Amino acid sequence: MTIGEMENVEVFTAEGKGRGLKATKEFWAADIIFAERAYSAVVFDSLVNVVCHTCFKRQEKLHRCGQCKFAHYCDRTCQKDAWLNHKNECSAIKRYGKVPNENIRLAARIMWRVEREGSGLTEGCLVSVDDLQNHVEHFGEEEQKELRLDVDTFLQYWPPQNQQFSMQYISHIFGVINCNGFTLSDQRGLQAVGVGVFPNLALVNHDCWPNCTVIFNNGNHEAVKSMFHTQMRIELRALGKISEGEELTVSYIDFLNISEERKKQLKRQYYFDCTCEHCKKGLKDDLFLGVKDDPKPSQEVVKEMIQFSKDTLEKIDKARSEGLYHEVVKLCRECLQKQEPVFADTNIYMLRLLSIVSEVLSYLQAFEEASHYARRMVDGYMKLYHPNNAQLGMAIMRAGLTNWHAGNIEVGHGMICKAYAILLVTHGPSHPITKDLEAMRMQTEMELRMFRQNEFMYHKMREAALNNQPMQVMAEPSNEPAPALFHKKQ
Ligand SMILES: [Zn+2]
Ligand SMILES: [Zn+2]
Ligand SMILES: [Zn+2]
Repeated sequence: MTIGEMENVEVFTAEGKGRGLKATKEFWAADIIFAERAYSAVVFDSLVNVVCHTCFKRQEKLHRCGQCKFAHYCDRTCQKDAWLNHKNECSAIKRYGKVPNENIRLAARIMWRVEREGSGLTEGCLVSVDDLQNHVEHFGEEEQKELRLDVDTFLQYWPPQNQQFSMQYISHIFGVINCNGFTLSDQRGLQAVGVGVFPNLALVNHDCWPNCTVIFNNGNHEAVKSMFHTQMRIELRALGKISEGEELTVSYIDFLNISEERKKQLKRQYYFDCTCEHCKKGLKDDLFLGVKDDPKPSQEVVKEMIQFSKDTLEKIDKARSEGLYHEVVKLCRECLQKQEPVFADTNIYMLRLLSIVSEVLSYLQAFEEASHYARRMVDGYMKLYHPNNAQLGMAIMRAGLTNWHAGNIEVGHGMICKAYAILLVTHGPSHPITKDLEAMRMQTEMELRMFRQNEFMYHKMREAALNNQPMQVMAEPSNEPAPALFHKKQ
C-alpha cells in the first residue's frame, strides 16, 4: 500500500450525513483501505521535549533544533523530513520570542502549507482544507470566546512577511482543527502525544458499529537501507468483509455506553445526531444496563445502585487524580461487592470499575487480585464489543499481561493469543504493539509448554526469574484510560 493512493474509495453524498466515502472494491478483515500522511500535525505542549516532532515516537534522547531550541527529533532523517514544515515555524518562534500553544502551532502549520501549495486540492487528497467542515456556526458561547482568543494569539504569532489571511479564514481553520483533529499516539499506543489533520480521513463518517478502524502508525527508520524506511501515517483498516459500493465508517467515540449517552456525546462533540442501526434500535442497551436474573432486583434497587455507582466513580476519579491508588482500590472493592447481587456481568457500571481496579492493582503489582478482575472485565467486553474492536484487543492484551504476571500461564497465554489475533486486524503485523504481542505470545507459549511438562519446575523457574530481575512495572494509571482516537475536548 502506497501512502496517498486513494483509488480504493470514492466520495459520495451519504443520505442525511453530507459527504462520505464508499469502497470501490471488495475488502476483507485487516485490509488497508488507504494510508494517509498528516496534512499538518504538532506535538502536544506538555511533551515537546520528549516526543519527536516528525514521527511522534517517545524517545530517551532527542536532537534539538539548534536555531529555535524548540523542535526535537529522533535523528537526522526525522529532522530532514521536518524541515519543509518547520522552516517557517522555526523563524516565527524566534521572532515571537516564545512558543504558542498546540492549537495555534497547528493552525499556523496548516496555513504555511496553504501558502506554499495553494488552497486547492493537494496531491493524494480527495478534499481540500478549505472544503473541510468547521462547525463554527454551532459553537456555544464558551467555544466562541476561546476561538476569538486563539485568533488573536494567532495574529500576533503569524509573521507579517507571510501571506495574510482573512479573519474568517483563520476561524475556519480553527474550526477544522476542532472537529477534524485526530489524536496521534506514541509507538506503544499508551499515550496521546499530538494532534494532526488528515483530510481524507475527515471524510469518513461515524457509525457506533463501524466497518473500519483507523490506526496511527509512527513509521520506522530502523532498517539499514532507507528504501525500507516507512513514514508516519494513519491507516484505515477493514474490520470485516466490506462490499463494493458500501459506505466506509469509523467510530469517533468508545462504544461502551448506552445509545442515549453516545448520542449526547456525539451531539456535544461533533454536532450531529447519530442515526446508526445501534442507536436507532438501541441495540445492546439491555446488556449495558443488564441486571441479575434470579432473583431479579426491583427497579428501585437498580436505580439506587446506578446512582451509587456514579457517585463512587466520581470519588474514584478524584482519588486517582491525586495518586491515592489504595483509596481507589478500596472504593472499587466496596462498590463491586454492592453491585454483585444487582448487576449482570455486562453492566457498564460494573465494567468501568473492573477496568479501573484491574489497572490500578496491576500498577501496585497485586497481580493475583488484579487478574481475577481483569478476567471478569474481558468476559463482559467480549459480549459487547465488535469482535475486532481495537479497544477490546488492547484490553485483552493488558488482561493477558496481568494474568501472566500473576502466574496464570494458561489464561495469560490464551488472552495474549486472542489479543494478537485482534491486533493483526486493527493494527497490522508491522505495528510495534503487534510486534510486542508476538514476542509475548512466543514467550508465554514456551512457558506454557514447560508448565504442562512439569508444573513444579515451572513454578521454581518462575520464582527464580522473579527474584533475579525486578518485575516489569506497568505504566502509572492515568486519568484518561486510553488515548481516544479523535482529538476532542470532553
Ligand atoms: Zn522521529
Ligand atoms: Zn527550529
Ligand atoms: Zn450511533
